[in-house]
Amino acid sequence: MPKSKIAPKVGIVSLGCPKALVDSERIITRLRAEGYELSPEYAGADLVLVNTCGFLDSARTESLDAIGEALSENGKVIVTGCLGKEEELIRASHPDVLAITGPHQYESVMQAVRAHLPPKRDPKIDLVPEAGFRLTPRHYAYLKISEGCNNRCSFCIIPSIRGDLASRPINAVLKEAEALVKAGVKEILVISQDTSAYGLDIKYAESKWRDRQVPARFLDLARELGELGVWIRLHYVYPYPHVDDVIPLMAEGKVLPYLDIPFQHASPRILKAMRRPANNSRVLERIAKWRSVCPDLTIRSSFIVGFPGETEDDFETLLDFIEEAGIDRAGCFKYENVEGAASRDLDDHLDQELIDERWERFMEVQTTLADARGQAMIGRDIEVIVDGWDEDAGAYAARSKADAPEIDGVVLIETDRKLADGAILTVTVAAAAGHELTAAPRD
Ligand code: SF4
Repeated sequence: MPKSKIAPKVGIVSLGCPKALVDSERIITRLRAEGYELSPEYAGADLVLVNTCGFLDSARTESLDAIGEALSENGKVIVTGCLGKEEELIRASHPDVLAITGPHQYESVMQAVRAHLPPKRDPKIDLVPEAGFRLTPRHYAYLKISEGCNNRCSFCIIPSIRGDLASRPINAVLKEAEALVKAGVKEILVISQDTSAYGLDIKYAESKWRDRQVPARFLDLARELGELGVWIRLHYVYPYPHVDDVIPLMAEGKVLPYLDIPFQHASPRILKAMRRPANNSRVLERIAKWRSVCPDLTIRSSFIVGFPGETEDDFETLLDFIEEAGIDRAGCFKYENVEGAASRDLDDHLDQELIDERWERFMEVQTTLADARGQAMIGRDIEVIVDGWDEDAGAYAARSKADAPEIDGVVLIETDRKLADGAILTVTVAAAAGHELTAAPRD
């Protein structure tokens, strides 16, 4: 097809979380539908779009740096994403950006692109895959089920950036998931700000899926996704009571036995000051019950250390919790005094030195737990999905059901066989170093 001679080219820099990545994918789908081509390099692009993150101060700095780099390398830059809400801040350091739009403002981004780089092709002749364009490898994809959040955690400014919870109709979500599977996706990662609250804002409205009416509820969504025959991984789930109902689907193998629950802390008084949703004192009991139903359950979580007012006792409660709850994968963030967050106004902010020290102690405990977990895997047969050849390791990089891409561990497969990306096979674990396992195909 004679296209590249005339098609205007757009470069995309995508920063931030998986939700921002999904935004970038949607923008790319729209760009391709309107006849734009993508450029992997600044030099080949007629214009560069920077999809920013504004969650933590460190992410804001990274976003501003990325805008500066795109301006000096290319010169024509449009900014979108979470930091786009703060136009003044961006203009103060980068007055030459062409346009600034906020998160998930797909139409505004497209208008800005059209204004500064008019499309030259007839969209009717461009083929867009049914599943849209994706930035993740072909075998896994993120599925965004809602935007925004109804919670008001005191350290977080996401609701002020992204607004209240806005769930997508369940048939739209399922249709997208089905199209992804048809396009070859073997693993779907369900994301949102608060996955277990799905449908609350639309009163769990039913919509027609195949020959049935299906309500927009977390459990129905998990059950229907579980029928697609691919790995389904649930992220950002809060321990609301109805989460118990999804555990049997994990035990049956319909949904991966993996829950990403951002607990953030374990001390009741810190959780209260954080204004965390579903904060109850019986979490340990609940987790034990989940494990009795689904013994292979992996729990990933993230925590914040050094929150204002956190005492040594609170911190030790947190360390005890990750051990007692058997948190399998634990990420740890140092508290940051984010501009606009309610927690800035709390008393008793901790010195940075103390925050750093607690972070180190957390990481020591988490490393010890990860090592023990890794050793316990030696000799076990596990199912893995292949992500591709890892040149540095001289082995195939794969992931077990306990490992989400980018954030968890890796299983290195040593074999002379050729393994395709997205292949799912059973391997026997031979060695472990923390969350990195080395294995060989079983047969
Ligand atoms: S649940 Fe809390 S931390 Fe998560 S997006 Fe909502 S307000 Fe922010």
